[in-house]
Order: sequence, then C-alpha cells, then structure tokens
Amino acid sequence: MRPTGMVHLGNYLGALDNWVKLQEDYDCFFFVANWHMLTTDAADSAAAGGYTVEMAADWLGAGLDPERSTLFIQSLVPEHALLHLLLSMVTPLGWLERVPTFKEMVEQLGLESPSYGLLGYPLLQAADILMYKPRWVPVGADQVPHIELTREVARRFNNTWGSVFPEPDAKLTQIPKVPGTDGRKMSKSYGNAIYLADSPEEITGKIKPMVTDPARKRRSDPGNPDICPVFDLHRIFTPAHDREACASGCRTAGIGCLDCKAVLLEHMLPPLQAIRERRQRFAEKPREIVEILHEGSKRARRTAVKTMDQVRAAVKLEP
Ligand code: SF4
Repeated sequence: MRPTGMVHLGNYLGALDNWVKLQEDYDCFFFVANWHMLTTDAADSAAAGGYTVEMAADWLGAGLDPERSTLFIQSLVPEHALLHLLLSMVTPLGWLERVPTFKEMVEQLGLESPSYGLLGYPLLQAADILMYKPRWVPVGADQVPHIELTREVARRFNNTWGSVFPEPDAKLTQIPKVPGTDGRKMSKSYGNAIYLADSPEEITGKIKPMVTDPARKRRSDPGNPDICPVFDLHRIFTPAHDREACASGCRTAGIGCLDCKAVLLEHMLPPLQAIRERRQRFAEKPREIVEILHEGSKRARRTAVKTMDQVRAAVKLEP
C-alpha cells in the first residue's frame, strides 16, 4: 500500500480486511510502498514518513499482527532496488508500455513527459513480489495484468540466468463496490472518503447527507436500492433481514432515506468503532509503530538478502 494518507473504507474493504484474514493461514509480507509513491508524487516525499505512521496505525488497528506477518517499509529493504535494476536488463520496453495502468495514469494525471520510474513501476512491483518467492499474491481483478507481467519477468530471468524464481499466482480478492459519500468511487482525491480513523460522529456526519437514488426527491417517491450508493454500503454492513426490510421500504416509499441511513449506521458504526479504538491506541505511540516497521524491515531483509545471494550466484557478474 502506498503511503499517501490514512486508510479509508475503500482501501480497507478492498485489501486490508482481506490481508487480516490471510495471515490466519499464510506467512504474509505486507509493505509500505514508499518508492512507488514517488512514481507519481516525488515532490511530496517529505510527507511519506508521517503518512507511513498513520497508515500503519490503520493496519494494526484493523488487526494485522506484526508477530505473525512481516510488516515492512520498502525503502528499508534496498535489495528491492537491486533486483529491480537486474530485472530491468532483461525486460523488453514494450512489456511495460503495454501495461494498461501506465497509459491510464499518464492520461489521468495529464503527464506530458512521464518519468522513467512511472514506466518502470510494474517492474519494481515484480521485484517486490519475486524477492519473497511467494506462492500467492492477493490482488483485485484490476491488478491481475501486473501479476501476469511478474510471471513473465520471472520466466525471462530464469531463462537468461538460471532458475531462481518460482512463478507466483494471483489470489483473487472479491472487492465489494465501495462508493464514496458523493456516489463516485471512494477516493481520497475526491474528498468523499470515510476513514478508519473517523469518529462515530464524523461517520454519521458523512452518511446523513450522502447521495441516494437521485430519482427519489421526496419522501413519498419510491426509490430503487439497486442504484443507490447508500444501499451498496448496506450490502457490506447490514445483515440480510434488515437490509431486505430497507430495500422493500425504499421501493414502496415506506421509509425515508434518513431512516434507511439510520439502519445502516446502526450496523456500520460498531465494527468501525472497534477498529478505530485499536487504531487510536497505536496512533498515540508513534514510536512503537516506527519500531514495529523497522523490526519488520529487518526480518524482510533477511529473506531478501538470501534471495539476492541466489540471484548473484545465478548472474555471475563478479570474478
Ligand atoms: S431509502 Fe435507502 S436505498 Fe432507498 S434511496 Fe433512500 S438511502 Fe437509498
């Protein structure tokens, strides 16, 4: 996860919540992708430190356990950069130019001259992954092309220099639709996000004016939950019985949108409150968070150094 600020519900439900479950069954590595942040926000590098602490507080609050999972900071494991460099020598430029997210980012950000780092970020990601020789990489469907690229790069390395890297598979995460308060996709840059750090009052203050079915202008108008962003949140938080009652109340104009939102809040606030309380306990001790990440980075580095020993032996560059 890039350190670009606090974790919002979209990040939580799209990744973090799944990470917490995965650590039950797998030996997991999760990292703060601070070099990746530089591919689009190089001038903001000084903010990365503070954001890293905030984000890690969210991770710990959500239940990532530094005893079970290795939580680390990318830039504290410089082996990632070494592997990235070597991989760059065997990766055709066309493979990177073809990555859909590259073109999208160039267009979205209106970049006239995208950096070398931005073009190379899927390759850095390949290095991040291959370093730990994982069996699985937990990703959403939009990231599958990146895992495919990682597999191709691993094959290319193995064919060129000798078999070091097994090819990892994508472990697909079902990502629920998480709308922001304006009905668009939840995103920090849209200013429509609900954060794990938000208090119940703040969440209530964001849900009450949240966009609903635009055709339901008056309380007496029936609505359609299938096109209502509030109902997307019901699907995530509200148990079937209450959810169905809201849906039929909406369709028959039996309930108003504020009633519907009150039911949502009743189910949404308690689990988020539990995360927030844990999060706050960590956030009050930022030094401990930094220590956890430094310890995790040392642990990650032990694995990375072993991998790079095998890489060096395969590449045979030095006499
Ligand atoms: S009643 Fe609920 S589902 Fe229906 S439009 Fe209002 S907020 Fe959306």
